[in-house]
Amino acid sequence: MREVLGESVLEQIMVDAVLKCQYDACKALDLVLSEECKPTPEIKNQVAAPSKKSTEGRAREQPARVDADIIPKVAKMTVSGKQITGFNIPSANTDENDHLRKGAVPNEVFPSVMPEASPKPNSACPGPSLTEEATAVQTPSKVSTKTRQQLDVKVELEKRQGGKQLLNLVVIGHVDAGKSTLMGHVLYLLGNVNKRVMHKYEQESKKAGKASFAFAWVLDETGEERERGVTMDVGMTKFETKTKVITLMDAPGHKDFIPNMITGAAQADVAILVVDASRGEFEAGFEAGGQTREHALLVRSLGVTQLAVAVNKMDQVNWQPERFKEISNKLGQFLKQAGFKDSDVAYVPTAGLTGENLTTRSQVPGLRTWYNGPCLLEQIDCFKSPQRPVEKPFRLCVSDVFKDQGSGFNVTGKIEAGYVQTGDRVLAVPPNETCTVKGITLHEEPLDWAAAGDHVILTVTGVDIIKINVGCIFCDQKAPIKTCTRFRARVLIFNIEIPITQGLPVLLHYQTLTEPCSIRKLVSILHKSSGEVLKKRPKCLTKGQNALIELQTQRPVSLELYKDFKELGRFMLRYGGSTIAAGVVTEIKE
Ligand code: GDP
Repeated sequence: MREVLGESVLEQIMVDAVLKCQYDACKALDLVLSEECKPTPEIKNQVAAPSKKSTEGRAREQPARVDADIIPKVAKMTVSGKQITGFNIPSANTDENDHLRKGAVPNEVFPSVMPEASPKPNSACPGPSLTEEATAVQTPSKVSTKTRQQLDVKVELEKRQGGKQLLNLVVIGHVDAGKSTLMGHVLYLLGNVNKRVMHKYEQESKKAGKASFAFAWVLDETGEERERGVTMDVGMTKFETKTKVITLMDAPGHKDFIPNMITGAAQADVAILVVDASRGEFEAGFEAGGQTREHALLVRSLGVTQLAVAVNKMDQVNWQPERFKEISNKLGQFLKQAGFKDSDVAYVPTAGLTGENLTTRSQVPGLRTWYNGPCLLEQIDCFKSPQRPVEKPFRLCVSDVFKDQGSGFNVTGKIEAGYVQTGDRVLAVPPNETCTVKGITLHEEPLDWAAAGDHVILTVTGVDIIKINVGCIFCDQKAPIKTCTRFRARVLIFNIEIPITQGLPVLLHYQTLTEPCSIRKLVSILHKSSGEVLKKRPKCLTKGQNALIELQTQRPVSLELYKDFKELGRFMLRYGGSTIAAGVVTEIKE
């Protein structure tokens, strides 16, 4: 207890709590914390929203649920090094395979926690916080009641989540723009952050003389956990607005996370672009070499059309309206060129550190005089939920693979099309083998079905875990995804220094997959808007050009044509650590 609480709590208070909780240190700790950090009225309002979900969010913080904080990390451990199998990514650029390098936690870390975590299958802990045992017991029992029912997915989707729509959100922006602080603070204000963790970080960051990092650390810890192969506490990456349930994609704490960002953004519906309003800082992020432009271009190329720009650290410029306007104008011009419609981009002045204008409209005098628009949370609520292609054949791109104790193993990923029910037989490509979906978990809850747009955990049996990797696609066995080593694509060349020539070896980033490939043919240069052929068989491609090219992969990859499945027909090409092109698949060869 002392380790978590530091010197901030009297010995006697701790002793009393321990006695009250009959020597259960975890409960006692939460008891002390619940006394210590009673939420402010503002937070209470947020947490006490009447929906079913937020009730659960609040329940996570009750002392009786102490184990919920431990169990997810145990139950969802990744088998060491598992995901790397089958990937042959050049190691020179280590960033490129960062997201494949999960699973490094030695198994011996877990046994000491396991016995404590496992005997509580029936505790009130939600969803994936269940142990493997619990999942194994609970999921099938649910299945038996509703298995193989004919589903009207569209109708069911509307009823689900208390009528709230699901939205996948990615947070992007230049290093140090304040992404982690901003989102950490939003989650905290919404009551989604484990109080114990928050308190610990406040203490530690104060001790380290960096109190300002406390919120960022909340998310950075998550980042670390991922690196170590422990899937992050799902509860921390989900939050609710008035009309939506938001899944926060990827840990924003990653500093250099463009390859990770491609994976995150490929699964996102909408994005928050965070820019630092401080003098010189916005400019540094926006200039060539800064990540503001690259990130914005990337998410747009990956199909994100709606953007909320958090003009952050406004406290640093005394909430000056001129600075806000200057940044909005500069960004506005660029975003338009990048393909965002003006009406789909909104600018919100924020200060992630002080929490201004995040979950409630700010009352800061410097801001109130000129801004009466929405706060960040309200702006997120305004995003339109995209159409979910639920009527198309089932497709899920695997973003993580991990083993539980029970039978089978788990894969996580976003369902890109169609829907899946427990008991379904689905095809995994590669290795082109069928398996059975034993359980489905969405936002910590076991379900009978899930549909396009949902970020789920599937428990599967009937296929060897060794054969399933990040990047693998689970699909409808009657209408499987196409597989090839050669395909044609229309590409937009980014701001490259050296022209692209035939034979160039590049990295194909497709959904969660990263695969080496080469540019086999430069077929033609196309007119940007009409698509008319301007030149056949060009010698090279230069920045800003639109072209038709043919790509050759070393191993078979599963792709879809852009015209059939928009979401599954897009990809990015990277070379030497930068993104050189975005493309859409136009023809699958062989
Ligand atoms: P990230 O790299 O984009 O995730 O940025 P961090 O969240 O790690 O923040 C970088 C630095 O900016 C930290 O020192 C934060 O305390 C600081 N910071 C973040 N938001 C604000 C803000 O609104 N105002 C001020 N003054 N500093 C901030």
